[in-house]
Amino acid sequence: MITHVAFDADDTLWHSEGHYRAAQSAYETLLASYIDVADANVHARLLDVERRNIKRFGYGAKGMTLSMVEAAIAMTDARISAVDIQRIVELGVAVLEHPVELLPGIVEAVADVASDFTLLLITKGDLFHQEAKIARSGLSGWFHRIEIVSEKDIPTYQRVLDEVGIEPARFLMVGNSPGSDIAPVLALGAAAVYVPYHLLWAMEAGHGFDVTSPRLRQVTSAADIPAAVRELAAT
Ligand SMILES: [Mg+2]
Repeated sequence: MITHVAFDADDTLWHSEGHYRAAQSAYETLLASYIDVADANVHARLLDVERRNIKRFGYGAKGMTLSMVEAAIAMTDARISAVDIQRIVELGVAVLEHPVELLPGIVEAVADVASDFTLLLITKGDLFHQEAKIARSGLSGWFHRIEIVSEKDIPTYQRVLDEVGIEPARFLMVGNSPGSDIAPVLALGAAAVYVPYHLLWAMEAGHGFDVTSPRLRQVTSAADIPAAVRELAAT
């Protein structure tokens, strides 16, 4: 019954979260010359600002950069220097420009799944950044359709399915994020293959999904994706 398989991109096709973590750790080091970073709970305060700003800036490195600047000004009571603001901007630029490193086995997995199913790529985040990473990945040719969306929720998946012209029963999503890739897809009645990545962005944490769903498989590596997809397609 399944005809279309969609892949998430960040931390499903290529490494991503590690680059954000590196930027945030450099950010804490930079703030340490102004405040007691252990005391100030920098991570939680930055996350608060990011959460507030998602509605303005959307997901991705550009929004993170603006949030880092805003939070740094607030946490240092506006004592942060222009030179250090410039350094924060550079931390964001480094995230935007990092080389695309594909996850082990993902090229083979994508090629294998493509031999039996129509592939889509559905990713959220900054449009320019995602387009650049897709181009640099060398994988774009496998995907019949590429959707860069502002939020991966039930209405978004429904819109994509409507545009493709398929029922949820014909759709399967592969991804690393419970809240963005798995829960909304299962809720729609489609299938999902959950491939956890060793890091999960704090904003994506805390989302549950029906682990007993017969339309769900969890695998530990890209190499196991094709078999899980075929198993779900056969049920
Ligand atoms: Mg992801």
